Amino acid sequence: MKALAINGGAGRMGQILAGGLSATGRFSIGALVDTQAPHELFGATYAPSWDVVDATTIDVVVDFSSPEGVVASATWCAAHGKGLVIGTTGLSDDQRRAVEEAATKVGVVIAANYALGAVLSERFAAMAAPYFDRVEIIELHHDKKVDAPSGTSIAAAKGIAAARNAAGLPEMTDPTVRHTVSGARGADTIGGIKIHSVRLPGLVAHQEILFGGPGEGLTIRHDSFDRLSFVQGVALAADAVDASPRLIDGIQSLI
Ligand code: NAD
Repeated sequence: MKALAINGGAGRMGQILAGGLSATGRFSIGALVDTQAPHELFGATYAPSWDVVDATTIDVVVDFSSPEGVVASATWCAAHGKGLVIGTTGLSDDQRRAVEEAATKVGVVIAANYALGAVLSERFAAMAAPYFDRVEIIELHHDKKVDAPSGTSIAAAKGIAAARNAAGLPEMTDPTVRHTVSGARGADTIGGIKIHSVRLPGLVAHQEILFGGPGEGLTIRHDSFDRLSFVQGVALAADAVDASPRLIDGIQSLI
Protein backbone atom coordinates (compact mmCIF):
# COMPACT_ATOMS: atom_id res chain seq x y z
CA MET A 1 0.00 0.00 0.00
CA LYS A 2 1.40 3.42 -0.97
CA ALA A 3 1.23 6.30 1.50
CA LEU A 4 0.19 9.59 -0.08
CA ALA A 5 0.64 13.23 0.88
CA ILE A 6 -2.00 15.46 -0.71
CA ASN A 7 -1.00 19.07 -1.29
CA GLY A 8 -4.17 21.16 -1.31
CA GLY A 9 -5.58 18.52 1.05
CA ALA A 10 -8.13 20.92 2.53
CA GLY A 11 -9.52 21.93 -0.87
CA ARG A 12 -12.53 20.56 -2.72
CA MET A 13 -10.43 18.10 -4.74
CA GLY A 14 -8.03 17.33 -1.87
CA GLN A 15 -10.86 16.21 0.40
CA ILE A 16 -12.57 14.11 -2.31
CA LEU A 17 -9.26 12.48 -3.24
CA ALA A 18 -8.34 11.73 0.38
CA GLY A 19 -11.67 9.91 0.86
CA GLY A 20 -11.76 8.28 -2.59
CA LEU A 21 -8.15 7.11 -2.73
CA SER A 22 -8.17 5.63 0.77
CA ALA A 23 -11.45 3.85 -0.11
CA THR A 24 -9.68 2.00 -2.97
CA GLY A 25 -7.70 0.07 -0.34
CA ARG A 26 -4.52 0.66 -2.41
CA PHE A 27 -3.46 3.88 -0.64
CA SER A 28 -3.26 5.36 2.81
CA ILE A 29 -3.25 9.11 3.36
CA GLY A 30 -0.15 10.06 5.34
CA ALA A 31 -0.42 13.84 5.22
CA LEU A 32 -2.82 16.54 4.11
CA VAL A 33 -0.68 19.56 3.28
CA ASP A 34 -2.48 22.88 2.97
CA THR A 35 -2.21 26.50 4.06
CA GLN A 36 -5.65 26.05 5.65
CA ALA A 37 -6.78 23.26 7.98
CA PRO A 38 -8.86 20.50 6.36
CA HIS A 39 -12.43 19.64 7.44
CA GLU A 40 -11.69 15.91 7.47
CA LEU A 41 -8.32 14.21 8.05
CA PHE A 42 -9.06 10.66 6.75
CA GLY A 43 -6.49 9.30 9.21
CA ALA A 44 -3.78 11.66 7.93
CA THR A 45 -1.66 14.23 9.71
CA TYR A 46 -2.38 17.86 8.86
CA ALA A 47 0.72 19.78 7.71
CA PRO A 48 0.49 23.55 7.19
CA SER A 49 3.70 23.41 5.10
CA TRP A 50 6.15 20.89 3.62
CA ASP A 51 8.71 21.79 6.34
CA VAL A 52 6.79 19.68 8.87
CA VAL A 53 6.10 16.62 6.68
CA ASP A 54 8.07 13.52 7.69
CA ALA A 55 9.38 12.26 4.32
CA THR A 56 9.88 8.73 5.68
CA THR A 57 6.08 8.34 6.00
CA ILE A 58 5.27 9.29 2.37
CA ASP A 59 5.69 7.39 -0.94
CA VAL A 60 3.92 9.65 -3.44
CA VAL A 61 2.68 13.24 -3.43
CA VAL A 62 -0.61 14.22 -5.07
CA ASP A 63 -0.95 17.94 -5.83
CA PHE A 64 -4.31 19.62 -6.35
CA SER A 65 -3.44 23.01 -4.85
CA SER A 66 -2.33 26.09 -6.81
CA PRO A 67 0.45 26.74 -9.34
CA GLU A 68 2.69 28.06 -6.50
CA GLY A 69 1.81 24.95 -4.50
CA VAL A 70 2.94 22.74 -7.41
CA VAL A 71 6.41 24.29 -7.37
CA ALA A 72 6.69 23.61 -3.61
CA SER A 73 5.54 20.00 -4.12
CA ALA A 74 7.97 19.49 -7.02
CA THR A 75 10.87 20.88 -4.98
CA TRP A 76 10.02 18.68 -1.98
CA CYS A 77 9.57 15.52 -4.10
CA ALA A 78 12.86 16.09 -5.95
CA ALA A 79 14.69 16.67 -2.65
CA HIS A 80 13.22 13.57 -0.97
CA GLY A 81 12.98 11.13 -3.92
CA LYS A 82 9.16 10.89 -4.02
CA GLY A 83 6.90 10.38 -7.04
CA LEU A 84 4.55 13.26 -7.84
CA VAL A 85 1.05 13.34 -9.37
CA ILE A 86 -0.07 16.82 -10.44
CA GLY A 87 -3.66 17.78 -11.17
CA THR A 88 -3.36 21.51 -10.53
CA THR A 89 -3.93 23.54 -13.70
CA GLY A 90 -2.99 27.05 -14.81
CA LEU A 91 0.81 26.68 -14.51
CA SER A 92 2.99 29.41 -16.04
CA ASP A 93 5.92 28.46 -18.29
CA ASP A 94 8.34 28.91 -15.35
CA GLN A 95 6.19 26.72 -13.09
CA ARG A 96 5.98 24.08 -15.82
CA ARG A 97 9.80 24.19 -16.12
CA ALA A 98 10.07 23.55 -12.36
CA VAL A 99 7.93 20.42 -12.86
CA GLU A 100 10.09 19.25 -15.78
CA GLU A 101 13.20 19.83 -13.68
CA ALA A 102 11.74 17.68 -10.87
CA ALA A 103 11.01 14.95 -13.44
CA THR A 104 14.76 14.65 -14.12
CA LYS A 105 15.08 13.43 -10.52
CA VAL A 106 11.79 11.58 -9.73
CA GLY A 107 8.72 10.22 -11.49
CA VAL A 108 6.07 12.85 -12.27
CA VAL A 109 2.61 12.54 -13.82
CA ILE A 110 0.97 15.80 -14.85
CA ALA A 111 -2.50 15.78 -16.39
CA ALA A 112 -5.10 18.43 -17.08
CA ASN A 113 -7.87 15.90 -16.52
CA TYR A 114 -7.87 12.65 -14.54
CA ALA A 115 -11.43 11.65 -15.49
CA LEU A 116 -11.16 8.51 -17.62
CA GLY A 117 -14.09 9.55 -19.84
CA ALA A 118 -12.45 12.89 -20.58
CA VAL A 119 -9.23 11.15 -21.62
CA LEU A 120 -11.18 8.75 -23.84
CA SER A 121 -13.12 11.63 -25.43
CA GLU A 122 -9.78 13.24 -26.31
CA ARG A 123 -8.73 9.99 -27.96
CA PHE A 124 -12.04 9.76 -29.88
CA ALA A 125 -11.68 13.41 -30.97
CA ALA A 126 -8.22 12.74 -32.42
CA MET A 127 -9.75 9.78 -34.33
CA ALA A 128 -12.51 12.00 -35.76
CA ALA A 129 -10.33 15.03 -36.50
CA PRO A 130 -9.08 14.03 -40.01
CA TYR A 131 -12.64 13.52 -41.29
CA PHE A 132 -14.25 16.91 -40.50
CA ASP A 133 -13.58 20.36 -41.94
CA ARG A 134 -14.14 22.30 -38.76
CA VAL A 135 -14.06 21.80 -35.01
CA GLU A 136 -14.73 24.00 -32.00
CA ILE A 137 -14.69 23.25 -28.28
CA ILE A 138 -17.05 24.39 -25.55
CA GLU A 139 -15.83 23.79 -22.00
CA LEU A 140 -18.16 24.36 -19.06
CA HIS A 141 -17.05 24.56 -15.42
CA HIS A 142 -18.21 25.64 -11.96
CA ASP A 143 -18.04 29.35 -11.22
CA LYS A 144 -15.09 29.05 -8.78
CA LYS A 145 -12.63 27.99 -11.47
CA VAL A 146 -9.93 30.68 -11.74
CA ASP A 147 -8.28 29.77 -15.06
CA ALA A 148 -9.75 29.77 -18.56
CA PRO A 149 -9.82 28.06 -20.91
CA SER A 150 -9.53 24.76 -19.06
CA GLY A 151 -6.32 22.73 -19.32
CA THR A 152 -8.46 19.87 -20.64
CA SER A 153 -9.76 21.91 -23.56
CA ILE A 154 -6.25 23.07 -24.47
CA ALA A 155 -5.01 19.47 -24.37
CA ALA A 156 -7.95 18.39 -26.58
CA ALA A 157 -7.21 21.20 -29.05
CA LYS A 158 -3.55 20.17 -29.23
CA GLY A 159 -4.50 16.54 -29.91
CA ILE A 160 -7.01 17.52 -32.60
CA ALA A 161 -4.55 19.96 -34.22
CA ALA A 162 -1.85 17.27 -34.30
CA ALA A 163 -4.28 14.77 -35.88
CA ARG A 164 -5.41 17.33 -38.47
CA ASN A 165 -1.81 18.21 -39.22
CA ALA A 166 -0.82 14.54 -39.61
CA ALA A 167 -3.74 14.10 -42.04
CA GLY A 168 -2.52 17.06 -44.11
CA LEU A 169 -5.52 19.29 -43.28
CA PRO A 170 -4.85 23.04 -43.36
CA GLU A 171 -4.99 25.21 -40.23
CA MET A 172 -8.57 26.46 -39.79
CA THR A 173 -9.27 30.11 -40.49
CA ASP A 174 -12.27 31.93 -39.04
CA PRO A 175 -14.66 33.26 -41.71
CA THR A 176 -16.07 35.84 -39.27
CA VAL A 177 -14.93 39.32 -40.31
CA ARG A 178 -17.32 41.53 -38.32
CA HIS A 179 -17.16 41.12 -34.54
CA THR A 180 -20.13 43.10 -33.22
CA VAL A 181 -19.01 42.20 -29.68
CA SER A 182 -15.36 41.24 -29.22
CA GLY A 183 -14.78 37.73 -27.90
CA ALA A 184 -18.01 36.37 -29.39
CA ARG A 185 -16.08 33.79 -31.41
CA GLY A 186 -14.17 32.48 -28.39
CA ALA A 187 -10.45 32.10 -27.79
CA ASP A 188 -8.04 31.28 -30.63
CA THR A 189 -5.84 28.35 -29.75
CA ILE A 190 -3.54 25.98 -31.59
CA GLY A 191 -4.46 25.19 -35.20
CA GLY A 192 -7.17 27.87 -35.27
CA ILE A 193 -9.38 25.75 -32.98
CA LYS A 194 -11.76 28.01 -31.02
CA ILE A 195 -12.45 27.36 -27.36
CA HIS A 196 -15.49 28.83 -25.62
CA SER A 197 -15.50 28.87 -21.80
CA VAL A 198 -18.69 28.82 -19.73
CA ARG A 199 -18.65 29.33 -15.93
CA LEU A 200 -21.86 28.64 -13.96
CA PRO A 201 -22.77 27.55 -10.43
CA GLY A 202 -23.94 23.94 -10.31
CA LEU A 203 -21.55 22.73 -13.01
CA VAL A 204 -18.51 20.54 -12.23
CA ALA A 205 -16.43 19.93 -15.41
CA HIS A 206 -17.99 19.37 -18.83
CA GLN A 207 -16.78 19.56 -22.40
CA GLU A 208 -18.24 19.35 -25.90
CA ILE A 209 -16.05 18.88 -28.94
CA LEU A 210 -18.13 19.82 -31.98
CA PHE A 211 -17.08 18.66 -35.43
CA GLY A 212 -18.72 19.87 -38.63
CA GLY A 213 -18.41 18.50 -42.18
CA PRO A 214 -20.54 18.47 -45.32
CA GLY A 215 -24.10 17.72 -44.18
CA GLU A 216 -23.15 16.24 -40.81
CA GLY A 217 -21.95 17.03 -37.34
CA LEU A 218 -20.45 15.01 -34.54
CA THR A 219 -20.47 16.05 -30.88
CA ILE A 220 -18.28 14.30 -28.34
CA ARG A 221 -19.45 15.26 -24.87
CA HIS A 222 -18.01 14.37 -21.52
CA ASP A 223 -19.48 15.23 -18.11
CA SER A 224 -17.82 15.07 -14.73
CA PHE A 225 -20.95 15.26 -12.56
CA ASP A 226 -18.97 14.84 -9.37
CA ARG A 227 -15.33 15.32 -8.36
CA LEU A 228 -15.27 11.57 -7.67
CA SER A 229 -14.80 11.23 -11.44
CA PHE A 230 -11.12 12.16 -10.99
CA VAL A 231 -10.27 9.53 -8.35
CA GLN A 232 -9.69 6.54 -10.67
CA GLY A 233 -7.27 8.42 -12.91
CA VAL A 234 -5.32 9.82 -9.95
CA ALA A 235 -5.10 6.29 -8.53
CA LEU A 236 -3.67 5.01 -11.85
CA ALA A 237 -1.11 7.83 -11.82
CA ALA A 238 -0.15 7.28 -8.17
CA ASP A 239 0.36 3.58 -8.95
CA ALA A 240 2.59 4.48 -11.90
CA VAL A 241 5.06 6.89 -10.26
CA ASP A 242 7.96 6.30 -7.93
CA ALA A 243 11.44 7.73 -7.44
CA SER A 244 12.59 6.76 -10.97
CA PRO A 245 12.91 9.95 -13.03
CA ARG A 246 10.38 10.33 -15.85
CA LEU A 247 7.63 12.67 -16.99
CA ILE A 248 4.23 11.25 -17.91
CA ASP A 249 2.26 14.04 -19.57
CA GLY A 250 -1.43 13.13 -19.46
CA ILE A 251 -2.81 9.74 -18.41
CA GLN A 252 -3.52 8.53 -21.98
CA SER A 253 -0.58 6.14 -21.76
CA LEU A 254 -1.90 4.70 -18.46
CA ILE A 255 -5.31 3.53 -19.78
P1 NAD B 1 -9.74 24.55 -4.03
O1 NAD B 1 -9.54 26.03 -4.06
O2 NAD B 1 -11.00 24.01 -3.46
O3 NAD B 1 -8.54 23.84 -3.28
C1 NAD B 1 -7.20 24.24 -3.40
C2 NAD B 1 -6.57 24.05 -2.03
O4 NAD B 1 -5.17 24.28 -2.20
C3 NAD B 1 -7.07 25.04 -0.98
O5 NAD B 1 -7.44 24.34 0.20
C4 NAD B 1 -5.90 25.98 -0.75
O6 NAD B 1 -5.82 26.44 0.60
C5 NAD B 1 -4.73 25.06 -1.09
N1 NAD B 1 -3.52 25.78 -1.52
C6 NAD B 1 -3.41 26.81 -2.39
N2 NAD B 1 -2.13 27.18 -2.52
C7 NAD B 1 -1.40 26.37 -1.72
C8 NAD B 1 -0.03 26.26 -1.44
N3 NAD B 1 0.87 27.08 -2.02
N4 NAD B 1 0.38 25.31 -0.57
C9 NAD B 1 -0.53 24.47 0.03
N5 NAD B 1 -1.87 24.55 -0.19
C10 NAD B 1 -2.29 25.48 -1.08
O7 NAD B 1 -9.56 24.08 -5.57
P2 NAD B 1 -9.97 22.69 -6.21
O8 NAD B 1 -11.30 22.80 -6.87
O9 NAD B 1 -9.75 21.60 -5.22
O10 NAD B 1 -8.90 22.58 -7.40
C11 NAD B 1 -7.51 22.58 -7.12
C12 NAD B 1 -6.75 22.50 -8.44
O11 NAD B 1 -7.02 21.24 -9.07
C13 NAD B 1 -7.12 23.57 -9.47
O12 NAD B 1 -5.96 23.97 -10.16
C14 NAD B 1 -8.07 22.85 -10.42
O13 NAD B 1 -8.10 23.42 -11.70
C15 NAD B 1 -7.41 21.49 -10.42
N6 NAD B 1 -8.26 20.38 -10.85
C16 NAD B 1 -7.71 19.50 -11.71
C17 NAD B 1 -8.40 18.39 -12.09
C18 NAD B 1 -7.73 17.40 -12.99
O14 NAD B 1 -8.34 16.37 -13.33
N7 NAD B 1 -6.48 17.64 -13.42
C19 NAD B 1 -9.70 18.16 -11.60
C20 NAD B 1 -10.25 19.09 -10.72
C21 NAD B 1 -9.51 20.19 -10.33
